[in-house]
Formats: sequence, structure tokens, C-alpha cells
Amino acid sequence: MIQENLKEIQQQIPDHVTLVAVSKTKPIADLQEAYNAGQRIFGENKIQEMADKYEVLPKDIKWHMIGHLQSNKVKYMAPFVDLIHGIDKFSTLKEINKQAKKNNRVINCLLQAKIAEEATKFGLSFDEIENILQSQELKNLENIKIVGFMGMASFTDNQEQLKGEFSSLQKFYKKQQKVELPINCHLETLSMGMSGDFNLAIKEGSNMVRVGSSIFGNRNYN
Ligand SMILES: *Cc1c(COP(=O)(O)O)cnc(C)c1O
Repeated sequence: MIQENLKEIQQQIPDHVTLVAVSKTKPIADLQEAYNAGQRIFGENKIQEMADKYEVLPKDIKWHMIGHLQSNKVKYMAPFVDLIHGIDKFSTLKEINKQAKKNNRVINCLLQAKIAEEATKFGLSFDEIENILQSQELKNLENIKIVGFMGMASFTDNQEQLKGEFSSLQKFYKKQQKVELPINCHLETLSMGMSGDFNLAIKEGSNMVRVGSSIFGNRNYN
């Protein structure tokens, strides 16, 4: 089933859009099945779970951390993580930089923008993102690279609202692409869209979608 689901989604998304298969809570066998079908990018939201899966699965997989970060756990993924999506604090960037340096790596990062109305969703305001991008301190973080932004829309069926939320982040992203930024920033990734809204997100400028349940089925958190 996973293989068919992947194929169906791949057909829906244009070539310039990267598909992250969100495999959180799913067993190794499911990830292996997706891997066998050609999928190479997987997203997880818990560092320990991602590290455990990294250990046993093929090493050409690119691992994306999409969850909210606890700084004290960054060290467990620093040796191998390919992209960190959910950064909503400058202090987290500093910790990622420190751990990346220890591993002699440069780690790619996305700043998470708060575009949803819900108070429960994490993220930075556009002003806060601008402040980070323009800060002197950012220039010293030589072992991170800010490659774009990530956003999660509200949990709603209201298409107009979703469209507005995605489009606001796209506008901000395009504006920041024209601004002069430090050399450790190169904005090329806009991560927006999940199972329920990825088509709309792509229409509104997303070039990276994070799709879980439409590939692997519903999650069971028990
Ligand atoms: C779980 C999760 C997804 C995938 O959600 P689905 O609705 O299952 O596609 C995408 N992004 C983030 C940040 C998530 O936590």
C-alpha cells in the first residue's frame, strides 16, 4: 500500500517540489518499504526515534527533523541530520552550530514561521525572523546554514484561510530572498504542506512538502 500511496503523491507534485515522507511513530518495516519504492527523504519529530531508525536503515537516507526541538538532544542527531525544519529560537541555532562544529559539519536549518491562528502552534513572527537574519550574532555561526522557512497552517477546512496563511509566508520568503543576508543564509527552501493541504501549499509557493498519513496511513500514538 505504501508504494502505491507514494506513487500517487509523486504524480500530484511537480518536479521542483521535494517530498519528505513523514514516518514518525511508524515501524522500520514501513520505512524500508518506502525506501524500496525509491523514497530517500524521511521526516521524524523525535530526535531519539530518528537516531534509532538512522542506525538500522540504509545510510543514503536523508533525515529531516520536523518536530519541536529540545536543545539538550541536538547532539544525538548532529552527526547525521540533513535538515532541521522546526527552529523557533536563536538559542537553538547556537546549540545546533555548536554540535555541528563538534562533528565537523555544516547543518542546514529552516526557521519556523508562525502562520496559523492557533496558539498551540510553535513558530517565530516575521519580525522575529527578520531580527535573526539581520543579527550580528548570526554571522558567527559558521556551522549552520539557514536555507529557508517552514510553516504549518491552521487545522481547518477553510481553504481561503489556508491559502492566506501559506501565501503570507511565501510573500515573506520572496521578500527575504531579495534582501542582503550573511553568507550562512541562502534561502531556497519553503517547507509548507502536509497530507491534507499540500496541493494548496504548492500552489502558494511551497517547494517542500511533509506528508505522513497519506503515505503510511493514520498514526497510532498508543
Ligand atoms: C506529523 C507532521 C506532518 C505530517 O502530517 P500528515 O498530516 O500525517 O501528513 C508534517 N509536518 C509536521 C511538522 C508534522 O509534525
